[in-house]
Amino acid sequence: MVKIFTAPNRYIQGCGVIENICKYVSHLGHNFFILGGKSALSSIREGVLKSMSENSMRCHLAVFSGRGTRSEASALVKKATDFGADVIVGAGGGLALDTAKAVAYEMDLSLVLVPTVASTDAPCSAEALQYTDDHQFDREIKLKRNPDVVIVDSKIIAEAPTRFFVAGMGDALSTWFEANTCLRSGSKNFSGALATAAGLSIAKLAYDTLIEYGVAAKLAIDQKAVTPAVEMVIEANTLLSSIGFENCGLGAAHSISVGIGKLEGAENCLHGELVGFSTIVNLVLENYPKDEINKILGFCSAVGLPIVLEQLGVKDVSPANLMKAAQIALGKGSFMQNLSFEVSPLLLVDSIIGANALGISFRP
Ligand SMILES: [Zn+2]
Repeated sequence: MVKIFTAPNRYIQGCGVIENICKYVSHLGHNFFILGGKSALSSIREGVLKSMSENSMRCHLAVFSGRGTRSEASALVKKATDFGADVIVGAGGGLALDTAKAVAYEMDLSLVLVPTVASTDAPCSAEALQYTDDHQFDREIKLKRNPDVVIVDSKIIAEAPTRFFVAGMGDALSTWFEANTCLRSGSKNFSGALATAAGLSIAKLAYDTLIEYGVAAKLAIDQKAVTPAVEMVIEANTLLSSIGFENCGLGAAHSISVGIGKLEGAENCLHGELVGFSTIVNLVLENYPKDEINKILGFCSAVGLPIVLEQLGVKDVSPANLMKAAQIALGKGSFMQNLSFEVSPLLLVDSIIGANALGISFRP
């Protein structure tokens, strides 16, 4: 019975921390290759360049196209090699961070991640996803180690649209329930071992933090204000959820989110919005008590997470259409085998229908 716990080497969070980036990363090297989307790079450029020049560090900023493909990662590896990089820095959302992970992995270099939105559980983990040119899942890369440093500037997070912050809460919402699934069935985490007490406590803390501070944080973020509640939720979305899923394992919600995301109308949904709704499906599938489900429905409604398929853009809620989602959810890369009972496509379709009906009845 082996238990393994992994985490980034350092996690830094606070307003304006990007202006002191060298203080946190100078032990890693001198030549920083920074990749990110245009808006991510513009949000960190001033602070990074100032800190780098004050500390006589070299950096190169490379614009990332947002596709997250193998070919894009290869092109960035070439650019980083030409620059003489000894540290790879990724700035932006999930795709940019995953691409930076892939580049650092290929080059076997140190990795710094600077999420500029608190929208996913990607930043602290050692997993990176890559996609094909037509936006299909290609492969998962398992890094040799977690990121060396993760830097989250709360002011930058607050400047981003609220939608990303709320989506991050949707992603973090499932962590504890999926951890519970794996705990019950004895399924392995992302290190191929059982969860430690620390991992489980962190997953539970992610959930408790959202319930306690989520609504207040969302309202403050609407005003671009960084309150202590906002800081708590940034940490839940970015650190706790990330460490939580990696150390405890995933189950139904993340698998279902992939299937629903492939339905017509849901193309533009964010990962966390899909995971948020899929958490409700997860609870229906695993037959959670009414009070727990109502708590989640109330939370999602209050922060603006979708509780019905229509809010995700899915208009066709027929069993035949939902069967497409169920089959994908149970297909390649699924974590559904981590449940303690076998899930048939039909049971999954009915659970989606059941969750949607609960959402409809809950809406005012
Ligand atoms: Zn996720």
